[in-house]
Amino acid sequence: MFSAVCTLLSNMNINQKLYGRSLGTAKRTKILATVGPATDSYESIFAMVKAGVNGFRLNFSHGTYEERVQQIKWIRKASKELDVHVAIVQDLQGPKIRLGDFEGVRNVTSGQELRLGYGVEASENLVPVQYDLSKKVKRGDRVYIYDGKIRSTVTSVRDKVVHVRIENDGILMKRKGINLPDTDFGGDIITKKDREDIVFGAENDIDYVALSFVQTADDIRRLRKMLNNLDSKARVITKVETKLAVDNIEEIVKASDVIMVARGDLAVETLPESVPVVQRKIIGLCLQYEKLSIVATQMLASMMEQPEPTRAEVSDVATAVIVEADAVMLSDETANGRYPIEAINIMKRIIIYTQENSTVKAQFATSHDYSVPEAISSVIIDLAKKVNARAIVSETQTGATAISISSWRPNLPLIVVTPEKHIAQQMALLYDAETFVRPVDKFAATKLTDFLHSQNIFQKGDTIVTASGKYPGLIGGTDTIKVRTLE
Ligand code: PEP
Repeated sequence: MFSAVCTLLSNMNINQKLYGRSLGTAKRTKILATVGPATDSYESIFAMVKAGVNGFRLNFSHGTYEERVQQIKWIRKASKELDVHVAIVQDLQGPKIRLGDFEGVRNVTSGQELRLGYGVEASENLVPVQYDLSKKVKRGDRVYIYDGKIRSTVTSVRDKVVHVRIENDGILMKRKGINLPDTDFGGDIITKKDREDIVFGAENDIDYVALSFVQTADDIRRLRKMLNNLDSKARVITKVETKLAVDNIEEIVKASDVIMVARGDLAVETLPESVPVVQRKIIGLCLQYEKLSIVATQMLASMMEQPEPTRAEVSDVATAVIVEADAVMLSDETANGRYPIEAINIMKRIIIYTQENSTVKAQFATSHDYSVPEAISSVIIDLAKKVNARAIVSETQTGATAISISSWRPNLPLIVVTPEKHIAQQMALLYDAETFVRPVDKFAATKLTDFLHSQNIFQKGDTIVTASGKYPGLIGGTDTIKVRTLE
């Protein structure tokens, strides 16, 4: 078994991959791309992985299970063929509320009273909504329609119909989204559709589940409970896109595995001008609490139609790289745009240029109580720098040690060795990490450096620092740090 894995890995041209880093060709911040009509084929997915995508988001607001099964197969096949681990993110729709069906375009004017009803036929001043808002909203709550283009406030709730006063002139069209920045869903954010989708994900090799419109840490705990009951190994991504989530951000970060700054809805639910500040705060908290961070939405939006990004978009991606986010996301650019591969290539160029040339470093929280794994991670980095190590190697069962080391942003390549394929897939989104799967055996700990050496990951004379456990496979068992100069 061991030699079979050795052969497999030596075929991977690992040496080139790792040494690519010193030449500045490997991204530290990873790319998450959304699959959609523009990229719904094996050839597109293969091309996206080849161009540098580290993870795919499947947006469960659209599509059928049959399409999802097919896309998951394509992703796994492309990843196998290209010898790279790729993460699959299941993005749940959550309580995304939309207008119902009605004919044509409705003009609305400032000061107008409009009624929103669940399960009603459209008529004058009455518009159907796909969700029973009357159970959730109260007088004074803001109701934003059509991505915030139409702003209104609840004046009353009567006979299951919500009465709002429109605050600006504009138009309404069927099925446009509604945002309720003041409305507390009281823990009721995981919809019936989400529950069905979670079961599907647990049965279909999903690496991450992204929960939409999270309001409190309890929402995440509920999802975790469901995943545990389904025996799912998926990690949890919290999409921060509500005002309540921003208010509860520290508890939410602690309860999550990954935070996505979902700037599309966040800008509507809060204020567009608050988003950059919130984004920085969230990335800082993720570094402090050893969680992954993803910056999402409109990063290269103009590339939906144009082959070149705007200057502002380049700056936006670079900003996420400067603050050392784990990943940046492409949404419509790869799901529906005309230039998906160009968008990935440009994003990769911006990431690499910025990481190689920026002199600004991520900011870390200064007050920090160290847990034992955190203390071990910080010591490893200190040691690696003092011995001028070529890389840090983390042998990890759950990914926890690797995440902990990475969250210190050591500015050294991190090689993750794990016996678990799904952990390797999850770690594809981890900042500056490259992962290898090696099945566990009882001599694995003593053979780690032999293994790395025999795979030509390093060159003769390279010094590495390794972190591993005395008993490989034991969760939370990292207790051994070694320094090795390879002969
Ligand atoms: C967002 O709102 O920015 C987001 C990522 O979520 P969605 O694409 O589901 O709207």
